[in-house]
Amino acid sequence: METKYGGYMGKVLEVDLTTQAVSEYPWTDKDRELFIGGKTMADKILYDSFTGQEKPFSEENILVISTGPLTGTGAPSSGRYNIATLSPQTGIIGTSNCGGSFGYYLKKAGIDALVIKGKCAEHTWIEIDNGEFIFHNADEDGIWGLKVTEAQDKIRGILHEKWGFKRAFGQMVIGPAGENLVLYSAVISDERAAGRTGMGAVMGWKNLKGIAATGNHEFRIINPEKNTKWNQKWFKYLRNHPLTGNQLPRMGTAALVSQMQMRGILSTKNYTYGQYDEFDNVNGETLAEEYNIVNKGCLTCPIKCARTVNVEGREVKGPELETLGLLGGGILNNNMENILKWNNELDELGMDTISCASTIAYAMEANEEGLWDNGLKFGDTEGISQLFEDIAYRRGIGNEIADGSRKCAQKYGGLEFAIQSKGLELAAYEPRRAVGQGLGYAVSNRGGCHLNGGYLVILEGLGLYTDSQTPHAKADFTMLFQDLMEMISASGQCLFTSYAFFPGFLITKPNGVVTRIANAAIPFIGGVLRLINKCPTAVAMHLPVFHHTKAFIYAVGMKMNFGKYIRCGERGYTLERALDCRFGISSKDDTLPKRLTDVPQDPNDPKTKVPLDRMKVTYYKARGWDQNGVPTQKTLKKLKIIA
Ligand code: SF4
Repeated sequence: METKYGGYMGKVLEVDLTTQAVSEYPWTDKDRELFIGGKTMADKILYDSFTGQEKPFSEENILVISTGPLTGTGAPSSGRYNIATLSPQTGIIGTSNCGGSFGYYLKKAGIDALVIKGKCAEHTWIEIDNGEFIFHNADEDGIWGLKVTEAQDKIRGILHEKWGFKRAFGQMVIGPAGENLVLYSAVISDERAAGRTGMGAVMGWKNLKGIAATGNHEFRIINPEKNTKWNQKWFKYLRNHPLTGNQLPRMGTAALVSQMQMRGILSTKNYTYGQYDEFDNVNGETLAEEYNIVNKGCLTCPIKCARTVNVEGREVKGPELETLGLLGGGILNNNMENILKWNNELDELGMDTISCASTIAYAMEANEEGLWDNGLKFGDTEGISQLFEDIAYRRGIGNEIADGSRKCAQKYGGLEFAIQSKGLELAAYEPRRAVGQGLGYAVSNRGGCHLNGGYLVILEGLGLYTDSQTPHAKADFTMLFQDLMEMISASGQCLFTSYAFFPGFLITKPNGVVTRIANAAIPFIGGVLRLINKCPTAVAMHLPVFHHTKAFIYAVGMKMNFGKYIRCGERGYTLERALDCRFGISSKDDTLPKRLTDVPQDPNDPKTKVPLDRMKVTYYKARGWDQNGVPTQKTLKKLKIIA
């Protein structure tokens, strides 16, 4: 449907894999104003489609691949797209965000989003050329069964031969793990992964190996001159900020390992401890100094957080912090070269490194506790590569680890040390010394996710240093940060652009007077935040540290300010929750494993555990959800989710 707004291509297409029919999905400018794009748009489409009875591996399940309005407008770090579906890993809404170039080229093909239904009769890959769909047989083309890089190379070769020249395009594929329905299978685009919640398994079940997109549609920008100037200013701001211009480009997310160690929040031995004695071998400094060859980044990204390392003579993507933490101290492995190799193997098989590593750590502890005789031991790294293959091809104990830690614990016991929430394994941030992050993990709509949870750890030791044990104000900050990140994601941008929200001097001068005052004040401003969260539209202004809002005005032509931006994020977050509730989610599911809520990390300090129940009550109130964690009718109406 045509749109008056810039940034959008004005077309959402429904693709029925069963019949290979492609038709237009109705999506109006009103929908664009309320549900923006990316993740929020996908939630709305799934909300309108699902009754709560659907199963992840069924023809009724829908896969929504969506871009945001800023994708392709030149805004920093805007080469992102989102995949959402009913997750086979959690049984609730799964979403995952990805860099790479696919989102940009989907828009070049003239399409904002794909709503994929049904199931291919044969193993298939799809070519989209300027809105035309060509369904290819993935067996005849020799693509089904290939690992990720081989599959992408093969598709590239086929298309370049067909076109007769090296035309630019974007692609997303699954690996053997997705084909074999490993519940935490990823989708990979270039070297970037939509890793979480098992998007790859749903593609695999639908017999869909990959999608390639290309085209020559132009992006319409409402005010090109102002948009260009604004983006130049924004790029400069990000490049000068200590987090986005120094820490992330210099060491990537791996920079955080040493800070986490210092703060006692580095998951160690399956979250038994928060510090790893041998962290020096597997931290960001070691990665940067001894292994990083060159920094890489997604399209239009000035931050370039990705590492490139050498594995067996090939230049491949280096590990993120979560992988370093969970495949390092998490399983008591002190060998960086192991992690580089394993990270590449997991990417090639198409598996989420977080869930895979955490499920292996659970299995090691279950073996140590005598619950499951599986031969896996902490610190014993022999055979891990073979185990990855066994998981991806569902062989032996790999077949069980392929189902994630919750299912394994339901079978063998040890649920208290299966480090997951709603079936999704937590990232590497140990929350007993960052309790706001603990709340975020527990209430996150997609399960134990650090980002969807609000990433409060940035206040609790990884940027600012507020009291990490106090529950005060944590619920209010969690809501604000969740809503902010929801909207950044809906726009088509990378969440790392939000790092620059904190003025640089707070980061570079941790002992400065202003920083100390800010850290001390944070637990006491919950009341003020509650007012903002209740009525964000009262903040009808643009903030100098937050460039995102003006980009909407110049590129998209949509009315926007900070308050409206937050309200859109709140709408998306609550919509996703309402959708989860249809699948039975309530307060009883907003939990953490008992190890984190009942066992102090420091046996001599009873405060070093997550006071979850107390924070949840405040959080639900702030959100306008009832005490059972269900959004009230009044809240749904206020947010225009229902009429
Ligand atoms: S910050 Fe990193 S993940 Fe985000 S867009 Fe840039 S390179 Fe990609």
